[in-house]
Amino acid sequence: MSKEYYLKISPHNHTTRYSECSSISALDIVRYSARANLDGIIITEHDCQWSDEDIAQLRKEALKMQICSPDFMIFAGREVTAVANGKHAHALVFGYRGDIPVDMDLRELCRQVHRQNAVVILAHPGRNGKKGIEDFWEYPADGIEYYS
Ligand SMILES: [Zn+2]
Ligand SMILES: [Zn+2]
Repeated sequence: MSKEYYLKISPHNHTTRYSECSSISALDIVRYSARANLDGIIITEHDCQWSDEDIAQLRKEALKMQICSPDFMIFAGREVTAVANGKHAHALVFGYRGDIPVDMDLRELCRQVHRQNAVVILAHPGRNGKKGIEDFWEYPADGIEYYS
């Protein structure tokens, strides 16, 4: 019988570098995530994505400070602000290269992301009761964030 193997990756992280809502540095996210025995993190700033150079630099600093092991994984995604039913909706996008305009229609965002075989996850669709994404299960996303 084959053994199932899972990686524990924290997929939704904002840092003080590019997200005003955040009060934690990227290095601290790496530090606490590694300490909590996660295998990696994905940095998802609002409407911008860390460059490969930014990520490489962060990894270098983290290894130099010995706050994570060399096999700790650090990826960049982004949290896109889209519009669903006339209201702002947040979606996590992973594996997409290129620009994504702010406030695009959520359905169109899903299509655009899927054209690159990238992944879109609806972020906190049930947050704040009525402020969430109405009928979020109707959108062609790849998943939802259950808890944030
Ligand atoms: Zn967020
Ligand atoms: Zn959000």
